[in-house]
Amino acid sequence: MHSNAHGTIPVLYIVVPCYNEEDVLPESISRLSSVMRQLMKDRSIAKDSAILLVDDGSKDGTWALIRQYFHPNSFVRGLKLAHNAGHQNALFSGLMHAKDHADIAISIDADLQDDVNVIPEMIKKYDEGCDVVYGVRKKRTTDSFFKRFTAQGFYRLMKITGADIVYNHADFRLTSKRVLEQLSLYEERNLFLRGIIPMIGFQSTKVYYDRSERFAGESKYPLKKMLAFALDGITSLSVIPIRYITFIGLAMFFISLIASLYSFVRDMMGHTVIGWTSLMTSIWLIGGIQLICLGIIGEYIGKIYKEVKRRPKYHLEAILEKPSNG
Ligand code: UDP
Ligand code: MG
Repeated sequence: MHSNAHGTIPVLYIVVPCYNEEDVLPESISRLSSVMRQLMKDRSIAKDSAILLVDDGSKDGTWALIRQYFHPNSFVRGLKLAHNAGHQNALFSGLMHAKDHADIAISIDADLQDDVNVIPEMIKKYDEGCDVVYGVRKKRTTDSFFKRFTAQGFYRLMKITGADIVYNHADFRLTSKRVLEQLSLYEERNLFLRGIIPMIGFQSTKVYYDRSERFAGESKYPLKKMLAFALDGITSLSVIPIRYITFIGLAMFFISLIASLYSFVRDMMGHTVIGWTSLMTSIWLIGGIQLICLGIIGEYIGKIYKEVKRRPKYHLEAILEKPSNG
């Protein structure tokens, strides 16, 4: 007999954002389906549970594949976004769909770098009363040195700026319906789910797994996108960088006081021609610092600009969903 803190068998939606993933989808669907079958056999999840594939405006045959897999005896459902809205927005659209159809959602990347075998453990934690279960990587041995290094730097920077994010957790997580309902209240355009979910709160826990390599296709996160993602993450969660600018400004002001005192004394002593070196360096130094500061402020202004336009985060072009029998 199945009994949990909620008294019912939950409907699970596994939400998978897909951007040009035709190479990995068949394998991913088959792996996820076998996990689903096992969970249904154990009566851990309800019959209406599904794998929700969100096509994020792919240019390859991803949507054709999703349609092909959407048949009466498969778990597959689909959302098609009209345009490439980006990983976070695609995920958000899927979670909002799951909110209306399921009791719990688990988000996972299409390449299954995250271990699907911890999904039963996540559901067990939910049964025990957790509303959020974070999938956390044990170590990053399969990532390149460069990715490991930049990722670690990123988490460190996030911590300095005061953002509350879970170390080594990407977007592999379980969220309950009531967390998703709270998430739907966040209307910001600059979505950074990893930072928002801990802000929402509720009881949470972590499950650990080894991250493997992408088994087909290539990363959709080249360095340029990764840097943009890191910068977005920091500036969408914290205004501390702006505060640091003020501190730098104050420090510069004191240094310049000392410098002027120094040049005044030198002037009194009659050595007025020297100082070309210090002049040149300070011009460059101050110029550089000012540009950095302007850049950071610009970053926030850009964010504000995006927010005030209140544009929709994504456009749904098609939905493949089965009629509910509830
Ligand atoms: N993705 C997406 N839209 C994008 C870029 C990526 O939906 O514009 C999806 C992609 O299909 C995958 C997930 O986001 O399911 C993570 O991408 P990827 O595995 O390429 O990133 P990495 O693991 O290399 O950081
Ligand atoms: Mg990946």
